[in-house]
Amino acid sequence: MNRRAVYPGTFDPITYGHIDIIKRAAKIFDELIIGVADNAMKNPLLSTVERVDLLKRAVRGMKNVKVESFNELMVDYVQSKKITVVVRGLRMISDFEYEFQMALTNRRLNKDIEVIFMMPNQSYSFLSSKLIKEVAVLGADLSEFLPLFVEKKLKEKFKKQLKIIKKS
Ligand code: ADP
Repeated sequence: MNRRAVYPGTFDPITYGHIDIIKRAAKIFDELIIGVADNAMKNPLLSTVERVDLLKRAVRGMKNVKVESFNELMVDYVQSKKITVVVRGLRMISDFEYEFQMALTNRRLNKDIEVIFMMPNQSYSFLSSKLIKEVAVLGADLSEFLPLFVEKKLKEKFKKQLKIIKKS
């Protein structure tokens, strides 16, 4: 049997927490597809192309992991790939309520898709893309939290934004 799963998310930007979940899931499934949500509602800092590119670099060498973007309803995207398992990461109790609501809403939308939750190494259980952006803008050293190429991209992006703000 070919066991396949999708790990969907915004990944704005990818952190070692996401990478930890990817490595764990890649051990369980024959194929893991990382689905980068092209979701304008979340107003991401990085474009979809940038987020996909960073993820591809982060999973280079992981032979059974693929990265792509999607812009439809998550359950429709997963079904279109003939996959029935979705992986999500759970950090703390604070994730639980949101993930629980989303999993049950998605089950209403498509009863054939199961969501499984994985926990990262505890050293990443406090890490969030949102907080990373908040400290990155102030110039914090991010080497503990994400790969160097992601840190560089973030800082580049903030520099460009600052220039635009200064000009206007
Ligand atoms: P969302 O998809 O909800 O916009 P993210 O792209 O940040 O959020 O996260 C995608 C998935 O990865 C979610 O299930 C989230 O809980 C999980 N995740 C995010 N950060 C971590 C982390 N540090 N450790 C484990 N899982 C994480």
